[in-house]
Amino acid sequence: MADQLDPDCIFCKIVAGAIPASVVRETERTIAFRDINPQAPTHVLVVPKDHYPNAATLAAADPELAAAVLTEAAGVAADEKIADHGYRMIFNTGAGAGQTVFHAHVHVLGGAAFHEGMV
Ligand code: IMP
Repeated sequence: MADQLDPDCIFCKIVAGAIPASVVRETERTIAFRDINPQAPTHVLVVPKDHYPNAATLAAADPELAAAVLTEAAGVAADEKIADHGYRMIFNTGAGAGQTVFHAHVHVLGGAAFHEGMV
C-alpha cells in the first residue's frame, strides 16, 4: 500500500497540482517534470504519484510502480531524443548520497557530455 501523501513534501504538492511544474509526461500512477535546477540540457524527474521516501522503499513496497517509473524514464529519453547518444538515470538514495527531496524520483539526464557531480 502507498503511504499517505505527505503535506510537507514538495513532490506531493506537484502531484496534487498545488504548485506548478513543467510536466512532460503523466500516467495514472507517475508524473515526469523538468528539474527546476537543470544539470544538463535534458533534466527531467520521474516520480510515482504515491509518496515513498526513496527508490528502495518504493521498490520494496510496490515493484510494479517502481517498474512504471523506469518505463516512464525511458519514455522521457525517447521523447527528448537523448536515447541514441546515451543518458543517465540517477536515484540519489539517502542524504549522504545527495538526496534532498524525500519522495522517490529518478533523474533523467542527457543531451550533453557527462561530468562528475552533475546531480
Ligand atoms: P535529489 O537531490 O536527488 O533529492 O533531487 C531533488 C531534485 O529536485 C533537485 O535536482 C532539485 O533541483 C529538484 N527540485 C526541487 N524542487 C523542485 C521543484 O519544485 N520543481 C522541480 N524540481 C525541483
